[in-house]
Amino acid sequence: MAADGSKAAIDKEALRRKYRQERDKRLRPDGNAQYLELKGQLAHYLDDPYTPRVEREPVTDHVTFAFIGGGFAGLVTGARLTEAGVRDIRIIEKGGDFGGTWYWNRYPGAKCDTASMVYMPLLEETGHMPTEKYAHAPEILAHCQRIGRQYGLYDNALFHTEVSALEWDEAATRWRIETNRGDRFTAQFVGMGTGPLHVPKLPGIPGVEDFRGHSFHTSRWDYDYTGGDPSGAPLEKLADKRVAIIGTGATSVQCVPHLARACAELFVFQRTPSSVDVRDNRPIDADWFAEIATPGWQQRWLENFTDNQTGGQASEDLVQDGWTDLARRIRTKIMQLPPDQITPQNMLAAWEDADFEKMEEIRARAEAIVNDPETAENLKAWYRQLCKRPCFHDAYLQAFNEPGTHLIDTDGKGVERITATGVVVAGTEYPVDCIIYASGFEVGTEYHRRAGFDLKGRNGKLLSEHWSEGMRTKHGIHVHGFPNAFIVQPTQGANLISNVPHNLTESGRTIAAIVQHALANGASEVEVTAEAEQAWIDLLLTGSGRMIGASPDCTPGYYNNEGQEPTAESRLRVGYPAGASAYFRYLKGWRDKGDFDGLAFT
Ligand code: NDP
Repeated sequence: MAADGSKAAIDKEALRRKYRQERDKRLRPDGNAQYLELKGQLAHYLDDPYTPRVEREPVTDHVTFAFIGGGFAGLVTGARLTEAGVRDIRIIEKGGDFGGTWYWNRYPGAKCDTASMVYMPLLEETGHMPTEKYAHAPEILAHCQRIGRQYGLYDNALFHTEVSALEWDEAATRWRIETNRGDRFTAQFVGMGTGPLHVPKLPGIPGVEDFRGHSFHTSRWDYDYTGGDPSGAPLEKLADKRVAIIGTGATSVQCVPHLARACAELFVFQRTPSSVDVRDNRPIDADWFAEIATPGWQQRWLENFTDNQTGGQASEDLVQDGWTDLARRIRTKIMQLPPDQITPQNMLAAWEDADFEKMEEIRARAEAIVNDPETAENLKAWYRQLCKRPCFHDAYLQAFNEPGTHLIDTDGKGVERITATGVVVAGTEYPVDCIIYASGFEVGTEYHRRAGFDLKGRNGKLLSEHWSEGMRTKHGIHVHGFPNAFIVQPTQGANLISNVPHNLTESGRTIAAIVQHALANGASEVEVTAEAEQAWIDLLLTGSGRMIGASPDCTPGYYNNEGQEPTAESRLRVGYPAGASAYFRYLKGWRDKGDFDGLAFT
């Protein structure tokens, strides 16, 4: 702001320079290899603190549909298959219940940061009204359980069970499935919704194994140690504790305010600040909800959000949040261009201008809220908004005004070392009782490493071999050589990261239609042809490329393969060239036509 209160002009070249400098100092040659895999001495970080493991006999039967993963992907696909008349569906889940992300992430303050009305799947089908614009984690976990109950998905589910082998049996035209609980069963069809972010990782900081205090990862929150509970009760056992939290991504932004209130002292170790915009969470009014919840309401909201967020032409914005705000600003800027000036180059420039303005506002917000000027300065994010997961919170920046809360900024270098008693940055040791790793999840490692198994398809071919040069699918769902197998995730489909469940519900609906068609026509196999898979890849590669956050110009992170140049593999992590809304329209048309062009039924 200028002294007279007007907005100062933005020096775009200076900002571009600053963004480059901040990116360059974070680039590291080891990229993804910097993180520690949780095995051996570190395997205990994966233990489930929430549900005791129940012994059971191995299963050795046959089911029509087996689905790996009991999060949103498995639940929505299971629900649609049930509606399509498939009765014996078995979900195999490594957690102790349904929920996926929402089973594991029970840290204090966890909530969705895409509006509940579009984020929580099957609201209309279950009749559930979200209590808040952004529902807290316990409500979302309960919703997952509600879907499981309503569609009878608990009956056949295997919890605390991990698939160890999945092999196509050509003679029997079915999949053979083995698990770490000794199960050996078969399924005519398999689905996989193992999620992109479910394998916790630790930062590769020297000395991680040496720490003698208490430590845990945010996705395995230790309430026995901290006190409190997932619904936000005070973490009373931390009142005399010095606590370190390492990482300042979306998870940390949500739990830091709770820690700041509870700990004797809290040290927040920061490598890269998140952009933290206004959240403005509020309760949902039951009368308002009753008025808008007319038949088909959630589909209308989903389509409206996607249209608004991805630059469509929707005349109204039902959700009105931080996601749609940036898109609205870009659109407004483009509309201000004279018609003959609407070129791809000018549209990109309009996007950059809107982004600069937005990020200046977010940086100004840090300055306005945080009392200590140095801390405020260090909390400013110097990159384009979609380079990292945008965060929205109304108590995170404020937490740094708590007297016991200290931001330890590492100037992009990360924590230097962990000792038996504390955390070291720039030669200074901060002694602590507990280290909480808010260090995120594996992304960009091979699919089979994250899934825990490799699919063995026709003629013994492994999925990892088929994907050795990168993911190859049609619609992100079907893979040639892997009949009767379906993958439920966003990449090579809509690739809509602002609302992942929208991708999953559309895939679930599509898979149910295909399975219903196969069963009704007595087809024992359905497989995408090699030509159709190639044609889909060719189509994807006509697009403008990966989303903005995946650009190597961005500050390093999991969106852009830690800042490494795009590889053949990462170039295929793209979506439908015409955008998410167009993809969903296309997929509906493809599905409704009923001949499932590109798939062979035999
Ligand atoms: P992230 O991967 O986003 O964050 C990990 C953090 O650890 C980053 O701040 C990272 O810094 C930091 N880090 C890594 N190595 C070091 C090191 N050596 N020293 C210091 N810091 C280090 O994980 P999150 O769990 O926060 O979020 C993962 C994803 O989960 C989000 O992007 C989002 O998609 C999703 N999520 C969604 C939420 C919601 O919808 N409500 C809430 C929480 C998460 P750097 O940035 O420099 O790499």
